[in-house]
Amino acid sequence: MGRIVVCGGSVIGSCTAAMLARDGHEVTVLEADPDGAPPNPAEAWGAWQRRGVAQFHQPHNLHARFREVCDAELPGLTDRLLAAGCASVDPLAAQPPTIADRAPRPGDERLRFVTGRRPVAESVVTRAAEETDGVVVRRGVRVAGLLTGPSALPGVPHVTGVRTTDGEELAADLVVDATGRRTRFPEWLAAIGAPPPRLEAEDLGFVYYTRYLSGPQQPVRMAPAIVPMGSVSVLTLNGDNGTWSVTVFGMAHDPALRALRDPAAFDRVVRACPPQAHWLDGRPLDGVLAMGGTLDAHRDLVVDGRPVVTGLALVGDAWACTNPSAGRGLSIGMIQAQLLRAVVAAHLDDPGGLVTALAEGTAAAAEPFYRDQVAADHRRAAEMRALADGTPPPAPDPLATAFAAAAGRDPVLFRGLLEMVLCLAPPSEVLARPGIRERLVRAGAPPGDPPPGPDRTRLLALLAG
Ligand SMILES: Cc1cc2nc3c(=O)[nH]c(=O)nc-3n(C[C@H](O)[C@H](O)[C@H](O)COP(=O)(O)OP(=O)(O)OC[C@H]3O[C@@H](n4cnc5c(N)ncnc54)[C@H](O)[C@@H]3O)c2cc1C
Repeated sequence: MGRIVVCGGSVIGSCTAAMLARDGHEVTVLEADPDGAPPNPAEAWGAWQRRGVAQFHQPHNLHARFREVCDAELPGLTDRLLAAGCASVDPLAAQPPTIADRAPRPGDERLRFVTGRRPVAESVVTRAAEETDGVVVRRGVRVAGLLTGPSALPGVPHVTGVRTTDGEELAADLVVDATGRRTRFPEWLAAIGAPPPRLEAEDLGFVYYTRYLSGPQQPVRMAPAIVPMGSVSVLTLNGDNGTWSVTVFGMAHDPALRALRDPAAFDRVVRACPPQAHWLDGRPLDGVLAMGGTLDAHRDLVVDGRPVVTGLALVGDAWACTNPSAGRGLSIGMIQAQLLRAVVAAHLDDPGGLVTALAEGTAAAAEPFYRDQVAADHRRAAEMRALADGTPPPAPDPLATAFAAAAGRDPVLFRGLLEMVLCLAPPSEVLARPGIRERLVRAGAPPGDPPPGPDRTRLLALLAG
């Protein structure tokens, strides 16, 4: 069994730590933020300060893949989320009326998920990790750099621990970077003389405006969680303890959207969207929360088939993050945490093999979701920009459009679409299944009408008041 240091004690760092400790490893989590979660998860929304997570109060959906990995690797966590008031969601309950065959099918239970506001869910997850035998969580401790020892692979620096900003040194057989989208590990690598990792980063310019509300019951879902509506998209998410959120997002490039910071303008726009208007029928918890500057970023420790470092693993947003319109970050992070557990079990004594096996496993199990999201983001950003500028939008992706239209009529394709959205299977896997392409052709559905809501002219009028 090994000594493992996890840098970053947010959702993915905590779950990774708990999974590794269940295999008998001695795991220390170092979290820069000083405060732990309050005893009552429902109070975490207002009472928990998390400067280290800029998106702490932004809308989060815990997709079905998140629940599936929890159930496999951290038994009891889903029940704790439910006990904290998180909502149990059956996405098949929102099948469109155009699907005639509504009979349940084997595997339907896989689509269910349990979700809540990020602070509430995170408070449950971090407390569960703290209570796991073998996990020690130290808060208010910031990692500043890496320690090295004799190389395991010729010419490749080997990490043997971390140094904190207070100068403390902690030895480890493996250091896991779970410090999120603003990870400093490329600088840490440079400081130990490692070659640079493979890095991709791009800000497509999405900006999010969100209101949280509460009421005696969750709004009835009359449209998918995310609906593209010309130059904006509207996102409606269930929360915990009788709360939910409504988000309007578009491009920072579109200055008219800044008016959405005003709750009155935000409400005028959402009220003009028939399937989402009733999501405003509740007590607002806050004004409008805005966030932009969210990078698509991907980092890899294996360059041209060779590790740039050993003794270090990346999980969660430290490995890759996308603009969050698809809300997949936590699910992808859980896929990686699960993978890391298996890779550590097989390779802890073989640092070179560990880095390579993790890179290969990540490329197979997690990267398809990242690549799919980046491609979808590029298409949507180009469309939003063109509509805001009054220029012709680019042609939509024909396969995605045909799939979405056909999924509105075919129960198997609808489930396939949910699997893609809920991070259970990437599009390449769903499309490769026997019979799927035949169903697509058979459904032959023309693209549906645009969702009901304001066109660009009306949107600008609503924003202007
Ligand atoms: C607007 C928005 C909406 C989103 N919506 C969704 C959604 O609906 N569903 C979904 O699954 N995902 C969503 N995401 C993505 C999700 O927030 C991230 O994928 C997730 O937070 C990644 O978790 P993490 O544990 O890897 O990193 P983080 O949550 O970013 O945590 C990193 C932790 O590391 C700590 N830290 C940083 N530096 C150091 C250091 N040097 N030493 C010690 N500790 C350090 C920080 O304090 C923090 O606690 C959204 C993201 C944004 C921006």
